[in-house]
Amino acid sequence: QHILSTGLKATLRVIGLVNDLLNVARIEEGRFGFRFTAQPFPAIVRSAADALKKLSEDKGISLDLVIPDENMPAVIVDQEKIGMALDNIITNAIKYTPPGGSVTVSVWHEGTSIYTAVKDTGIGIPAHQISRIFDKFFRAENAVRFQTSGTGLGLYVMKNIVESHGGRVWLESEENKGTTVTFSLPIKEKDRGDGQ
Ligand code: ATP
Ligand code: MG
Repeated sequence: QHILSTGLKATLRVIGLVNDLLNVARIEEGRFGFRFTAQPFPAIVRSAADALKKLSEDKGISLDLVIPDENMPAVIVDQEKIGMALDNIITNAIKYTPPGGSVTVSVWHEGTSIYTAVKDTGIGIPAHQISRIFDKFFRAENAVRFQTSGTGLGLYVMKNIVESHGGRVWLESEENKGTTVTFSLPIKEKDRGDGQ
């Protein structure tokens, strides 16, 4: 049974890699195929975090959500792709944080955007490599040492998804302290309260 689960894990890793490569090819050919619909955003974040609850628990990392009760304006998104973007950054936060640490996912509304931040208490990124972190296939030297598996495609795909929605991505990090990845999404025009 151990051999079987090891084989299964290896197979799933290959499937994940092939899917990442296909997504990169689609992005570069401009046919990633977005399907935009108006969605309440907190539910999308909750479901992305719920799906990773077990991964964080198994590793001894607390995964907490901070979403205000206020009625948030809707966003126009491709629900599946934004789910993928959230999965990429929450998975990174769990993957690059040692047991006993924490990952906090916060959502807030300010002006014409909704912001999401994923903050961890993990290994961080060496200062001299932060500028290359969204590059295709780039992995920082401490990440390669800490966790050998990874392709360096997750953030490249995530950034493309957010920018295709008219949003922006920021990353702040300090080695051995932690990392925060924040992104914005523009809110639905008619919910902006500017009479448009
Ligand atoms: P995969 O393609 O499987 O996601 P990956 O996790 O290495 O592989 P990305 O998600 O693109 O690739 O991340 C690129 C690099 O950015 C990582 O290898 C790591 O060096 C750094 N990184 C990303 N998120 C974090 C984080 N939360 N803490 C520390 N380093 C991070
Ligand atoms: Mg990753």
